[in-house]
Amino acid sequence: MATNIEHDESGFTCECGMRNDYPSYVQAHWSVRLAYTCACQRQYVLYKGTVVKTSRELPEVYDSEAFGD
Ligand SMILES: [Zn+2]
Repeated sequence: MATNIEHDESGFTCECGMRNDYPSYVQAHWSVRLAYTCACQRQYVLYKGTVVKTSRELPEVYDSEAFGD
């Protein structure tokens, strides 16, 4: 799995293509693992400037496709 998340000091680009600029608390907690959710619901962990996609580690399953009956 070589998902390459483009990122830099001020933000990253989600797999959905949306640029996410880090909110100020990310810089304030640079050495702390922070969960970040993109507007598309993909979830990432930000840690010392790295961006790791984490959706599979989360136990909860959301059924966003369960609408429309
Ligand atoms: Zn996204």
